Amino acid sequence: MGDVVNLLDLDRDGLTAFVERLGEKRFRATQLFRWVHQKGVADPDAMTDLARSLRDKLRGAAEVRPLPLLSEQASADGTVKWLFDVGGGNAVETVFIPEDDRGTLCVSSQAGCAVGCRFCSTGHQGFSRNLGTGEILAQLWFAEHQLRRRLGLREGERAVTNVVMMGMGEPLQNYGALVPALRVMLDDHGYGLSRRRVTVSTSGVVPMIDRLREDCPVALAVSLHAPTDALRDDLVPLNRKYPLAELMAACRRYLDAAPRDFITFEYCMLDGVNDSDAHAKELVRLVRDEPATAVSCKLNLIPFNPFPESGLKRSGAARVQAFAKVLQDAGIVTTVRKTRGDDIAAACGQLAGEVQDRTGARTRVAQGRVDVLRRLERSRGSATEAKA
Ligand code: SAH
Ligand code: SF4
Repeated sequence: MGDVVNLLDLDRDGLTAFVERLGEKRFRATQLFRWVHQKGVADPDAMTDLARSLRDKLRGAAEVRPLPLLSEQASADGTVKWLFDVGGGNAVETVFIPEDDRGTLCVSSQAGCAVGCRFCSTGHQGFSRNLGTGEILAQLWFAEHQLRRRLGLREGERAVTNVVMMGMGEPLQNYGALVPALRVMLDDHGYGLSRRRVTVSTSGVVPMIDRLREDCPVALAVSLHAPTDALRDDLVPLNRKYPLAELMAACRRYLDAAPRDFITFEYCMLDGVNDSDAHAKELVRLVRDEPATAVSCKLNLIPFNPFPESGLKRSGAARVQAFAKVLQDAGIVTTVRKTRGDDIAAACGQLAGEVQDRTGARTRVAQGRVDVLRRLERSRGSATEAKA
């Protein structure tokens, strides 16, 4: 492959520089960008409004490099999970979650993760490597265009209306590849998603939260999981480097540039570990009552998705409700995340890549597929108001 440029690696500025290097006019880059991202076309010969001279130069110099698909599974609830081969025995997962008014794509940023949170199966797997911009975008490129074709969507209609960087990996530990990918998602000539509809989720890499605020402020979700440093040190080891006071200060700074006037805090509910009323009250203190750490936020409680090696259990539904009530009574907007794709291990924290089991992971379409298409059809109307 050597010098062949992967067009998915380039945001529009990068593509413009590339096109100029080929001796072509700058505006050709926008045309090319639209063919790739808006129309999902990979073959230069099919890009009919590009000058023949450019098409000829592209052949052999550039390509769209999709990720090899290892498997596809569809959940009874409409969630679709794809497993992609990223080489060297590594695989990453991408999950599509259709809802009535939106289609959310959960995208991976790394093969494995170095943060090593106790409750996360990706963390238990350890870190393999960062994905490149092209590998991050290949997940969106594939999902958007495959779903569009399956659904028979018309030009301008979108399957993916929201992207959350909540798949495998810590996106802010792969900052250099992340930011150009975000730019393509936001670009009106790319996927045209509004900044509110692209969410970066982080376990709290403080200096990179500050850089994201400067470079590409999208919606921010912060994985909190504990109201005190002692407990968070244990659950999210990165807390030892960036403790809560610093994290909360970074969140406050982020709000100056954020597309929303709140940060979403994620809190994974672990039975007997972080889910008591006392923890909920400490959480209220942390995010609201303590002037030094208070921040405008919403709380998203995630029922823990168990996996064998964790030794942890999911909090009971009544406990989650009681915990939520303490927060709500204190005036904090709190939601409990619905668990999706449980039956195909596509729920949060279950994305381990199944690298060990590659032989069994060939393309397979589960019985749920007909149901998926039915649900997708119901959620199609959303494309036109995707810029809310
Ligand atoms: N590394 C980033 C993004 C990927 S994890 C982060 O930590 O934010 C996405 C979300 O899934 C995080 O909120 C994470 O805490 C949560 N999560 C991880 N493992 C989980 C599990 N087993 N059950 C439920 N949620 C989990
Ligand atoms: Fe990494 Fe996020 Fe999993 Fe923690 S929760 S190990 S940061 S992917």
